[in-house]
Amino acid sequence: MLYIGPVEIPGSDDHEGFVSADTADGRATGIWSDARRAPAVAYRAACECGWRDDVAFVPDRLGHSAALRAFVDHHFSPVTGSPALDPVRHFLPAWAAVVGARELAPAMA
Ligand SMILES: [Zn+2]
Repeated sequence: MLYIGPVEIPGSDDHEGFVSADTADGRATGIWSDARRAPAVAYRAACECGWRDDVAFVPDRLGHSAALRAFVDHHFSPVTGSPALDPVRHFLPAWAAVVGARELAPAMA
């Protein structure tokens, strides 16, 4: 998720957050993987700068949302010194996180 809020935050382009999946064999998925497609045992927030959250979430839909919010609360806000950011209004989520619910919708002829 990329910051797109109303005020410029210097350096914010260096901190694009994502949900990383912890897998049973001890790996962690990266920014180019959809954590929901991995054999996840947990989700956690991560950032392209290398940061990974200490807090793990259950790997389900709510856990995915919680990890996105944790990226803002646990990393982006402290690093940029920008409190009171709204993850929903001030960030552009990964495309997959937006359209995922529609993946199973049948195409119209
Ligand atoms: Zn970062």
